Amino acid sequence: MFRTVSVDRCANNIRRVMDIKDRTKEELLQTVEGLKNEIDTLKASHERHLAERLLSEKIIERTQLNFTSFFNTIDEYLFVLDEHAIITNINDTAVRRLGYKKVELVGQSIFILQPPERHAEVTSIMAKVLQGNTDFCMVPFVTKTGVQVPIEIKVSFGMWNNKPSIFGAAKDISALKFSEEKFSKLFMMNPSACILSDFETHKFIEVNDAFSMLLGFKKSEVIGKPPANLGIFPKDMEEGIFRAFLGESKITNVEAVLLAKNGDQKQVLISAENIQIQDKIFRFSIIYDITELRKKSEELVLAKETADDNEIRYKQLFDNTQDHIYIIDITKEGRFRVLDANPAHLQHTWALRKGDLIEECVPPEFIERVKGNYERCFNGRKMISFEESIEGFHFFTQLFPIIGHNNDIYRIIGISRDITKEKQLTDQLKRHNEELTTLNNNLLRAKEIITESEKKFRNLFENSPEGKSIMRIDGSFDSNRAYREILGYSTEEMATMTWMDTTYEEDIPYTKNVLQELIDGKISTANYENRFLHKNGNIVWAMVSIYLQRNIYGEPEFFITTLIDITNRINSEKKIKTLSKAIEQSPTSIMITDANGDIEYVNDLFLSFSQYSLEELKGRKPRIFNKGHLSEEDYNSMWDTLRSGKIWRGEFQNRTKDNNFYWENVTISPIHDKDGSTSNYIISLVDVTERRKMVDDLIEAKEKAQESDRLKTAFLHNISHEIRTPMNAIVGFSGLLTDPDLDHQRRNQFTDIIVKSSDQLLSIINDIIKIASIEAGQAKINVTEFDLNNELEQVYEQFTLVADKQNVSLNLVSMVSDEYWIETDQTKLIQVVTNLLTNALKFTTKGYVNFGYTEKGDEIEFFVEDTGIGISAEFHEEIFQRFRQVESSEARTYGGSGLGLSISKGYVELLGGKIWLKSVLGKGSVFYFSIPRKSAPKRGDIARITDYNSARN
Ligand code: ADP
Repeated sequence: MFRTVSVDRCANNIRRVMDIKDRTKEELLQTVEGLKNEIDTLKASHERHLAERLLSEKIIERTQLNFTSFFNTIDEYLFVLDEHAIITNINDTAVRRLGYKKVELVGQSIFILQPPERHAEVTSIMAKVLQGNTDFCMVPFVTKTGVQVPIEIKVSFGMWNNKPSIFGAAKDISALKFSEEKFSKLFMMNPSACILSDFETHKFIEVNDAFSMLLGFKKSEVIGKPPANLGIFPKDMEEGIFRAFLGESKITNVEAVLLAKNGDQKQVLISAENIQIQDKIFRFSIIYDITELRKKSEELVLAKETADDNEIRYKQLFDNTQDHIYIIDITKEGRFRVLDANPAHLQHTWALRKGDLIEECVPPEFIERVKGNYERCFNGRKMISFEESIEGFHFFTQLFPIIGHNNDIYRIIGISRDITKEKQLTDQLKRHNEELTTLNNNLLRAKEIITESEKKFRNLFENSPEGKSIMRIDGSFDSNRAYREILGYSTEEMATMTWMDTTYEEDIPYTKNVLQELIDGKISTANYENRFLHKNGNIVWAMVSIYLQRNIYGEPEFFITTLIDITNRINSEKKIKTLSKAIEQSPTSIMITDANGDIEYVNDLFLSFSQYSLEELKGRKPRIFNKGHLSEEDYNSMWDTLRSGKIWRGEFQNRTKDNNFYWENVTISPIHDKDGSTSNYIISLVDVTERRKMVDDLIEAKEKAQESDRLKTAFLHNISHEIRTPMNAIVGFSGLLTDPDLDHQRRNQFTDIIVKSSDQLLSIINDIIKIASIEAGQAKINVTEFDLNNELEQVYEQFTLVADKQNVSLNLVSMVSDEYWIETDQTKLIQVVTNLLTNALKFTTKGYVNFGYTEKGDEIEFFVEDTGIGISAEFHEEIFQRFRQVESSEARTYGGSGLGLSISKGYVELLGGKIWLKSVLGKGSVFYFSIPRKSAPKRGDIARITDYNSARN
């Protein structure tokens, strides 16, 4: 029933030998074929055996069911195509693996499952099959998602539903492809040269790239040729090579030398083995190139020698380096044991002792740390480094793990470097760095501040109301707005100018001199007034301040100049100068006060007048001149006038420093400021003392004339009485004397009265003459030297009788010595004493009259004291005036002309002294007078002595 499918694709057989599935496929195909035939047979039987129809149908149904089940579950791609390559059926396996649904494929061309570029190939295979052949198609299937599935399809012709059809059974050969590629790669990409050769002929069938690389032959140069023909065997061909290529069935690692195409000798190891493929024996050879290995081993020998040499060097290094080197072994238990430590380390205060576990040699306080470090290196399996401080030293430590063949760490090498000094240096550097950073920051800040303040100062400079310029030593010049405005130039114009261009020519030498002195350091700043030239040609007066700025080395850097325009001030000063000249030289006194009335200035005339100095007056009020002489009312009204801005005129009685009074006609003018307020007062004073005096004198003269007139009347009245009384007595009694009947006694009595009255009359006339002489300035003094005591005693004698008569005691007291010689006019002195004693006795009826003198310095003071009626104070001055009497002439009890005290006063003054009194009404009086102790006659007076004497005579 089953037709055996002959499998004669020998080329593929080699690969399929090992594949059990291949047989299954054949069986499968046979099964399909068989089933088809069975169906055909069944159909034929159906016609023949109608009777068995029911049974047959059942069988068919079952068979179909079986077929369908088989068709769909078999692990192969099965499909049926009609003669136009349209899919009439396809199994579930194919549908599933290709990612389609059955309905999507049935009715479609098989091309839907194949890459378009292979459709032509598919078409030609189909044509062949439709002629009744069976063929293999290697065109892959493409899944719905576009993945190509390597596939091997066996296609054969058959009838499906009585129509010529193509049956396809496809097998997924992905796995096969993979193993084929694997083996092929193993061969081709093997790093060792691989050769597949015919065992009998030795001809090369296949070589790999490594072979070409090793010996320099291209594949095409060797395939089909025996090795002997390639010249790869040296002439003295070794046994090994021969055996390798020709000899025994198996050789392993036979060392040989081969020659490359370029003649290079290659040291190789050859292994070879025979293999049988489909009854044929092939030889598979592998050649290892050991040329490099050889070279390496030679190098190793050399290296070993070098290593030995190095070891010695390392040992020296180990022993002599200053770094601490120690080698720690790790025990099986994972503990750290010191294997070795170099001398540098052993000198350390605590050292790792050879052979000790670290717990045994590291001080307990460090053990945790040391152990921790080793564990870190051990567990991390890599070098670690760290810095640590131990007992004041600072170490930089590196721990290296030593990894053995079995990948275990079995050792740790530690290298510690004492970096105490470096650390200190680094710390120091760090600090310096920090300091530098701070410094830098400060500098930056300072720079900001400087920039800021530069801005501020630039602003300040530019906007200063004073003209400012900066002139550098190189002559370059910078000026601010005010400076340019003062001189009338623009910034641009100013930029091209030097200070000389704007300085008034005559002032250039002075300025030059100032600049030089600043540069020479003779002065530090200069302030002066200087003339400049305005752009319009006018002279500008300016107050100049120059300061020389020096740099830190003291070298001159630039001049800072400040200009203040004082042209107006200078001009007004000129004006003021003219005015002040006028004031200074004014014929009137001028005083200037401030708004408060405090004196600021007075001119020379005022000073010479007032006797004050300007210093004494400055700041004081003018009132000092007239204190108490201007009424409060007048004073206030004056200020009211002035405050209202008006000029005040009036007269003051002022007073000089030495208390002389003088009168001034005063004009006070307020000076107004621009704003109308009073800034000063100008007071001009004209001396009117003389005029005032003239007026006063006139008034006085007038009053005197009136008084004289009054006195004259009184005098005449008085005199007439004083003269008439004795005259009446003389006339009356002289007439009686002519009576012949007059007795002798009466005659004597009458004669006596007449004589007394004549004396009285004479005395009065003498007094009148004396006073007239004094008042006419004709009384002269006659100085002689005499004993005062003697003279006073005589006066005393003279008055004793009168005093006794009045029952008044008369005493001459206070005699200085027995004799007291003085030089003066004796007659006048005695006259004064006599006058005072006469008055005293006249006005004293009880008590006493004392008189005498005392010496008071250069003067002799006389006194006449009485206990008489006294004189009330209001008359103390008056009684010395001629004809003055306390009693009015109408009610007189006491005689007298009222001339005695006038004469006395006149004489005392003539002798250079003065006269005064003390008296209390009703109690008594003391009259005093003084004369100089030694009064030489004045020259002018001597001439008049004779006059007086003659007058007296
Ligand atoms: P008289 O000739 O009137 O005394 P005087 O000039 O001597 O003139 O004196 C003037 C007046 O002074 C007297 O009239 C008398 O009023 C008064 N007087 C002078 N001396 C005395 C005195 N010792 N006691 C009282 N009154 C005196």
